[in-house]
Parts: sequence; structure tokens; C-alpha cells
Amino acid sequence: MSVTSDIKDPSLAGLGNERIAWAGREMPVLELIAGRFEKEKPFKGIRIAACLHVTSETANLALTLKAGGADLVLCGSNPLSTQDDVAAALAAGGIPTHAIKGEDDKTYYKHIISAIDHKPQLTVDDGADLVTTLHTKRTELLKDVIGGTEETTTGVIRLRAMAAAGELKYPLIAVNDAKTKYLFDNRYGTGQSTFDGITRATNILWAGKKVVVAGYGWCGHGVAMRARGMGAYVIVTEVEPVRALEAVMDGFAVMPMHEAAKVGDVFITVTGDKHVIAAADFAVMKNGAILANSGHFNVEIDIPALEAAAKSKRTVKPFVEEFVMADGRKIYLLGEGRLINLAAAEGHPASVMDMSFANQALGLEYLVKNRGNLSPGVYSMPADIDGDVAALKLKSLGVNIDVLTPEQQKYLSSWQEGT
Ligand code: SAH
Repeated sequence: MSVTSDIKDPSLAGLGNERIAWAGREMPVLELIAGRFEKEKPFKGIRIAACLHVTSETANLALTLKAGGADLVLCGSNPLSTQDDVAAALAAGGIPTHAIKGEDDKTYYKHIISAIDHKPQLTVDDGADLVTTLHTKRTELLKDVIGGTEETTTGVIRLRAMAAAGELKYPLIAVNDAKTKYLFDNRYGTGQSTFDGITRATNILWAGKKVVVAGYGWCGHGVAMRARGMGAYVIVTEVEPVRALEAVMDGFAVMPMHEAAKVGDVFITVTGDKHVIAAADFAVMKNGAILANSGHFNVEIDIPALEAAAKSKRTVKPFVEEFVMADGRKIYLLGEGRLINLAAAEGHPASVMDMSFANQALGLEYLVKNRGNLSPGVYSMPADIDGDVAALKLKSLGVNIDVLTPEQQKYLSSWQEGT
């Protein structure tokens, strides 16, 4: 059982605690849940392994689960997203944490194994690395798992593939698919934090830039909307006709990546897919083009192809690598092609993570309450939980809404009465 931590520097704990409290100010829904968990102890004695971006927002979730009696360990869900001061604070506060910002791939997976060594009964994942590692490298532990939750689009796609192949051995709740998650976290969270990351790394002026947004899912909606808000000329690339049409009618230019490659100043990938910017595109890009990824893993930009086409590369400032192409053009890759919002900035703001992590906390509680009743598979967030999270968030924001009158309720539930 893992009781120790592997973090960068324990002396950062004080800073980490301040940062966790600062994020907590904007997480009132999670705070309410923590208060209830404190009394009801829904996770009393239950071992939980969580593989999440180790940020101040995640720390508030971790403390909420601990308040509910959980025996929790944490590891990072991406080698570049860990906030080392937060990791130090959690470790000092009695939550074994395995995450170091900038760790190599080997250490990253070692940390996942350390979390799995805790013999989890519940798993919390962001990207499904914990679940897939458990299913391939520690199969003897699967029988003790009650269930798990998955935070992100990519993870849910992987889990559905596992379920379709008959390989998924316990129930998983797709937190990402809650409306109070994707409509806010994916759209407004990614929309804001992506620009925070790119701006901190480069300090470029957005006004007048030609920004190419690859992918018009919920993250793409947010990124395109915010780019336009700052005065950029926005081009969207897509593969799905309905989404492409939506982008057209939302007022964006839509074209294939190879066309966009010739005109873009900044490229932001949010597709969840592989190699959406590839060798042929690098070949036609303008001198000075900037490439950033804000989705999925570091595969959206074909980095090996960029390296192969370049005659040299060097780091010019933190999170900015300059590739000099054979013909002398320079192309800049940000944050090693890993999600730029968490690599070069602090991830999504606490106010949206409040809703995502309220869903996480309530989803885990639901799994415990329904222990033994759910067969292996991918489950949606129960709709009433989603509605409760929205209602609590509105309340915390001081927003009141109307309530259906009995007459209206009757009208909406009858089919005879038309006019
Ligand atoms: N796991 C993949 C991609 C997921 S990142 C990878 O590492 O490449 C996207 C997820 O990060 C979102 O679902 C979002 O909920 C989460 N996230 C964004 N900001 C965060 C923050 N401040 N703290 C914790 N998680 C955050």
C-alpha cells in the first residue's frame, strides 16, 4: 500500500496551501458537498486512486473525498500539468501524491503504478491511463474495484472502445458527458485557459491574427469564440459535416487544414485525434507560424514529422521551441505539443472545475451507493445529479429562476391540449 509520496519539493507546501485555498473561493458547490461528506462519510475506509491533473482545483476535490472518509492516493494525468507546490501541500496534508512537473514518460507511468499499488476500490481518471494500466498490468486487482469515473472526452472515447471490445471489467461513469461538465469546462474552461497558456508562453497580440482552430467540438467552440472575442480572424477545420456547418453558421471560415496551413499565424488543435497537422502542412506554413495543442495527448500535431523536416531546433523561451525548416522558415511549437492550457498556464479556472469536480464527487458517491448493482460498462452521469449541480451553481452565483406553475406543468405533460 502506498503511503509515501513522490513529489518535487516538500518545502513548497505552504505556497501550495495558499493556492488551494485561493481556488477554493470559487468552488462553492464542491464546498457544500464536502460539508455533507464530512458528516455522512460516504467513502469511509474506501481506497480511491485518482489520476488527475495535480492542480489547486484537483486538490479541492481530493480534500472533499478525504472529508468523506476516503483513503485516497493521487497521481498526475499528464507529465506537464502538475503544480509542484500543490503536490507538496497534498503530500504534507496526508494524501500520498505521485507527480512531478516535467517528469519523463517512464516516471509518469511509474507514478500511475504507485497509485494502483494502493489497490483502489474506486478509480478517478482523466484520459483513462489509470484504467487502461489497471486492465493490462494489474489485472489481479480488478475484482476489488467497485467502479470509477472519467473526466475527459478522450478518456470516455477510450473507455467506450474498451467496453465495445468486451474488455472493460467494472462500471465507469462518464463525468465528461454531464451537461454541467462539457458545456462549461470544455467550452468556457478550454476557451479561456488555452489563451492564457499561449499568451503566457508567447505574449503575442491576438488582435488581427489568423487563428486556425482544428476541431469544432465543445472545446473548439470555446477556443473559436474566445479567439474571435480578442479580434482574431478565425478559421475552423473539421471532418464532421454537421459540426463544420455549425462553424460556418457561427460565422467562422471553414476549410481543409492544408488550405488553412498556408494562411494561419497560430494553430490550435482540439480534435482528440492524431496528426491533424502533418508533414504536408508544415511544408506550406508561413514563416513564424505558432503551433499549440489544447486537447487529447501530444499526438494532434505530428511532432516526429516536424522534427524530421526541420534542420535544427532549440528552445527560445520556456514552452517555446523553434524549428528551423530546410528552407529557413521558422515554426514554433508550444509546450512540446502537450495541452498548452495546463503546461504553460494553470488549467481551467476554479469556477468551472467546481462543476466538473462536483460531478466527480457525486458520481463516486453514486457508485458506492449502487455497489454490486452496476455491471461493467460506461454509464452517463445520472440526470438528476447533473440538474442538482446546475441548481447549486446558480444558487452560489445568486441567480434565481422561475418555477413551473401547476398549470404549466399540466400543459407540458399533456398531449391533448395544443392551443
Ligand atoms: N488527459 C488528456 C487530456 C485531458 S485534459 C491529456 O493529458 O492530454 C482535459 C481535462 O483536464 C478536462 O476534462 C478538464 O476537466 C481537466 N482540467 C482542466 N483544467 C483543470 C484544472 N485546473 N485542474 C484539474 N483538471 C483540469
